[in-house]
Amino acid sequence: MDGCIFCKIAAGEIPCRKVYEDERVLAFEDIHPMAPIHVIIIPKGHVATLMDVGADRMADLQAMMAAAQEVARLKGVDQRGFRVVINCNPEGGQVVFHLHMHLLGGLKLKDALA
Ligand code: AMP
Ligand code: ZN
Repeated sequence: MDGCIFCKIAAGEIPCRKVYEDERVLAFEDIHPMAPIHVIIIPKGHVATLMDVGADRMADLQAMMAAAQEVARLKGVDQRGFRVVINCNPEGGQVVFHLHMHLLGGLKLKDALA
């Protein structure tokens, strides 16, 4: 989608520090990490928010979760533990309107609801 920063990253038009990629999803280091491990996982196809994922795109969420497992293994936190978060719409803290999941780890995370 025109003007979407994560579409541009998926297309290779904006660089990223890639962590994992398959045919459906891309995972890369967050540019402003909130934890020692902070990876963003996106579907390559544009969908703005979690609420815009219809039945036809549920496979993207499945692929994002599978990618989270793989990223956790690659980062060595699959057994120690980590957190995955999807912010949805403004009150949910969403700033970039291309669906994405945060994978956070590398420290003992406090209880959520910041
Ligand atoms: P959210 O608040 O859930 O929309 O989170 C958007 C996230 O994307 C933030 O954690 C940003 O630091 C991150 N972000 C924005 N632009 C980039 C970029 N070019 N490369 C990597 N991460 C980015
Ligand atoms: Zn997009």
